[in-house]
Amino acid sequence: MKIEIPEGSPFGLVNLPYGVFSTRESGPRVGVRVADFVVDLAMALGDEVFARPSLNAFMAQGFDRWKEVRGRITELVSGEVPGEVVHAVADVTPHLPIEVGDYVDFYASEHHASNLGRLFRPDSEPLMPNWKHLPVGYHGRAGTVVVSGTDIVRPCGQRKAADETAPTFGECRRLDIEAELGFVVGTGSPLGSSVSTAEFARRVFGVVLVNDWSARDIQAWEYVPLGPFLGKSFATSISPWVVPLVALEAARVPTPPQDPEPLPYLREAEPWGLDIDLTVSWNGQDVSHPPYREMYWSPAQMLAHMTVNGAASRTGDLYASGTISGPEKDQRGAFIELTWGGKEPIQVGDEERTFLLDGDEVVISATAPGAGGGRIGFGEVRGRILPATEAKR
Ligand code: MN
Repeated sequence: MKIEIPEGSPFGLVNLPYGVFSTRESGPRVGVRVADFVVDLAMALGDEVFARPSLNAFMAQGFDRWKEVRGRITELVSGEVPGEVVHAVADVTPHLPIEVGDYVDFYASEHHASNLGRLFRPDSEPLMPNWKHLPVGYHGRAGTVVVSGTDIVRPCGQRKAADETAPTFGECRRLDIEAELGFVVGTGSPLGSSVSTAEFARRVFGVVLVNDWSARDIQAWEYVPLGPFLGKSFATSISPWVVPLVALEAARVPTPPQDPEPLPYLREAEPWGLDIDLTVSWNGQDVSHPPYREMYWSPAQMLAHMTVNGAASRTGDLYASGTISGPEKDQRGAFIELTWGGKEPIQVGDEERTFLLDGDEVVISATAPGAGGGRIGFGEVRGRILPATEAKR
């Protein structure tokens, strides 16, 4: 068969994102998305590396191999493709595309960090003194990274409002999202070495959408002095399609001016800013349009910082950008910012909302300029909130 790619499809030949899918007949395996189809790569290319339930084995083969396979796929899907290797995307089940190694979340938006600083620490400077000298991050929980479509159970935990004298245990009352991008490490680096900013494009395989679900009340009570813990670790959702980094060449833009100049290990000859437009939809209504191009620190700087102390990196490591927020109110990537700490509700359909209610659904999607003038798509990361399960007190 010939795969029809409609004019303007966000999944044309300049995108070709990878994912893991299963069908009624076959278990999880690697596929590539073309228009509204998924091509079974193990069958199409006759290579067992794709007959696995994650992209990790393929990613570990390295940059030159990624390039070769992309070339073969382009050739394959431009011609006649055996019908049995092609599935309609609507007929397959998407799975988590990578076996997540370590998971790190950064905090790279100046607008987000400043807004959260004002909300969490109203009596001090919004940015901490280190913020413009290094990309601030924390280690998250790799084991609770889930694929888009996975329901999110409202977490329980300790929380203490400002007007309460002691903490109580119960379900989260300020459940929030964070719209982010996630960068997938394809080839790692050994313990005792570090990755330079110039190596980013050969080591990072691709990019996914991330929703870093956040329990703001649990977070506010626990985060000093060691940072986020249970307020974040209950679930992090990612999109099923990994957009290859090479597909984002046309989206590459400078980062905003960095002043003061970063230390030498964080400098980039050609900064890896990315012009990617996100949309956050809450129960079917678009409530925000976070612009990735506003991010202060680039993903190449994040990787360099993450390894500068000699920490190893591994195939499948995932590091997220932190909430993407622009300067405008409707560009904020978290509800705590959009509603200013819950004090300024927003209209969602017929209702006024601050934080997430049970049954709410959030969808984050994104597009970027593609080679040749069109736009490429990231698909979406979707999640619905289920009521808290009875927890032990
Ligand atoms: Mn985050």
